[in-house]
Amino acid sequence: MLLHGKIVGMISAQSYKENAYTREDQYLLELLAAHAAIAIENARLFTKAQQLADMDSLTEVLGRRKFYELAEAEFERAKRSKKPLTIIMLDVDEFKKFNDRFGHKVGDNVLKLVAKQCKSSLRDEDIFGRLGGEEFAAALPDTDLNQAMIAANRLRKIVEETDLSEIKDGMIDMTTGKSSTKNALRVTVSVGVAACDETCNKIDTVIDRADQAMYLVKHAGRNQISIWNNNGAEQ
Ligand code: GH3
Ligand code: MG
Ligand code: MG
Repeated sequence: MLLHGKIVGMISAQSYKENAYTREDQYLLELLAAHAAIAIENARLFTKAQQLADMDSLTEVLGRRKFYELAEAEFERAKRSKKPLTIIMLDVDEFKKFNDRFGHKVGDNVLKLVAKQCKSSLRDEDIFGRLGGEEFAAALPDTDLNQAMIAANRLRKIVEETDLSEIKDGMIDMTTGKSSTKNALRVTVSVGVAACDETCNKIDTVIDRADQAMYLVKHAGRNQISIWNNNGAEQ
């Protein structure tokens, strides 16, 4: 099957009889192949377009809409199976200052690297996405608060320890024009954790609670984790 001169598939007709196919049969098969090639290409383009729509274009992790959709599905599954589900919210600390100092382009590269590092430190079944700006979230299926705290601290640590000197085009300090040091390119995240419980009827409630816990960290000096409980968030 050919499309724009490229092979996109193959159709084979076989018979035990000699000269089973006529010229007309061949023509029909060619016609079928041409139509099938278009259908295959359309399906491929549709899948690609859907993947792009689901993804955050900068960081290539899930975008906000898809994150909520998948997290909501996990929430329903967790409720049905009575299994735990936790949400982790992460917000890059003082990122406005970072951008002001190093420029937006460097900031973009930092967000890309933070997203990559966080995603790779989670399990395949965890859902990780960028909720917007410098905010990320993870939904951890079959994970209770204790296990989520360990994961949250791992994420916090991995960001803190990430060597930002990998960001080659970010090695110039925009304010001084001089090469910046490795340490100056370090960022941290404030992290909030919340678990689903019987008082949650939507995933949004859990995400809001994790967000409240994260804001507590902001007030307490950043670069820490905090867990939401019934009395509000606690560290
Ligand atoms: P805090 O520690 O309280 O979170 O401080 P903050 O400066 O990180 O928070 P604030 O909400 O004041 O500012 C968020 C900053 O994140 C401002 C904005 O320039 C930056 N930001 C948001 N989205 C992007 C992006 O896509 N690329 C870059 N480079 N920066 C972004
Ligand atoms: Mg923010
Ligand atoms: Mg921030």
